[in-house]
Amino acid sequence: MNLANNLDLDLTQPEALQRLRDHLKTCRLCLEAGYQILPRAIYSGPQTARVMLIGQAPGITEYEVGRPFNAGSGTRLFQWLAEAGIEEEWFRATQYMTSITKCYPGRAKSGSGDRVPSRIEQALCRPHLDAERLLVNPELILPVGRLAITLFYPPQVRLDEVIGTQKKVGDSWVVPLPHPSGASRWHQSEKNRQLVRQAVELIAGHYRRIFPEMSAGQAKVN
Ligand code: SF4
Repeated sequence: MNLANNLDLDLTQPEALQRLRDHLKTCRLCLEAGYQILPRAIYSGPQTARVMLIGQAPGITEYEVGRPFNAGSGTRLFQWLAEAGIEEEWFRATQYMTSITKCYPGRAKSGSGDRVPSRIEQALCRPHLDAERLLVNPELILPVGRLAITLFYPPQVRLDEVIGTQKKVGDSWVVPLPHPSGASRWHQSEKNRQLVRQAVELIAGHYRRIFPEMSAGQAKVN
């Protein structure tokens, strides 16, 4: 992938991630394209991260507080990761969290939940995500929710076909997770909870492999 032209960013330079962050602070591409987003790119983590978590887009509390998966969804997400032995504070400080579009997209017209970013917004923000992936080069990618999952799987794939499985994409292992929102019923059925447990076991295995010093004796799946 050569993204340098899209972003006017030389990804080989040591300050490239900082330049990307500077660019994201002022990015208004979706507003200029007519979408009523609240511009504030939400993501976190250092270039040294070895795990990258990719969500759909920030919600309003993520926008207000300025950190990914801040609210109820984050609570459930980090419960799942805790079952893999991963501690939230450590993960937030040392691993990378981002999303397909990085600004709050606003409420859905139906009034139910947040608006799913349009294909145009996804395309406008894609070079940022691709640059993050190239710069961080994570060993493990956790796409969270259908939209992020379809970065790596066909668009019509069913969640029960991929949750609890993994695949290698380039240098990275990919382990999908469902969206942890309380509004989602998918992860609440017993059958699907078992698939989430399988995904957690896969994540625990990668955690032990990538961070043997951190995870010794910790990983436990209920
Ligand atoms: S969502 Fe992405 S492309 Fe759109 S304005 Fe925010 S940073 Fe820019």
